[in-house]
Amino acid sequence: MTSFSLRQVKLRPGEQHRDELEVELPAFEFGGQRYVPVPEEVAAALEITRANTGTVFTLAFTARLFGPCYRCLGDAVLELPTHAREYQAESPEDEQMTTQYVVGNQLEISQWARDAVALALPDKILCRPDCAGLCGECGKNLNDEPHTHEVEHVDPRWAALEALRDEALSDQT
Ligand SMILES: [Zn+2]
Ligand SMILES: [Zn+2]
Repeated sequence: MTSFSLRQVKLRPGEQHRDELEVELPAFEFGGQRYVPVPEEVAAALEITRANTGTVFTLAFTARLFGPCYRCLGDAVLELPTHAREYQAESPEDEQMTTQYVVGNQLEISQWARDAVALALPDKILCRPDCAGLCGECGKNLNDEPHTHEVEHVDPRWAALEALRDEALSDQT
C-alpha cells in the first residue's frame, strides 16, 4: 500500500507541493464480482496546497479495471479517470474539516485512491455500452451468437392472434 510522508513537505500558506508517484491500487469487489486494477500501480499526480486555515490535497490518476461484464460475464475493461480532493483543517472544530486519509504524518494514498475509484464507478460495468448479454433461454452469449428462440408452447388462442397479426403485417407490405 502506498503512503506519503508529510514530514518531507514543509509549506507556508500559499505554497504548493507537487509530486508524481506510483500508487498501488487494491482489487475491488463490485456487484459480487472482483475487478483487478491493471497495472496494479498507477501513475498519480499529487498536489498539496497550504491555505491559511488548512491544507488541500488533490490526487489525479486513471485507473484501468479488468473484470466480468455485468450482462454477459465476458471480459470488461474500464478506464476510469479519477480526481479526488481532501481538506485537512489546521485546527479542526469538527470532524468534517479533517480527512480520514491523513494518519499522523502519513497520507494514506492507496486507501484514498481506492475509495475515489469506488465513488467514480458506473452503475454497471459492461464489456461495451450496447452489450446484448446472455440469452434468457439457453444462456449463450448474444454478442457472439445473436439469436432468438421459437416459442415452443404456444397457447392456441395466442396462435390465432399471431396468425391475425401476421396477416395484418403481410397486408401492409
Ligand atoms: Zn458484455
Ligand atoms: Zn438462446
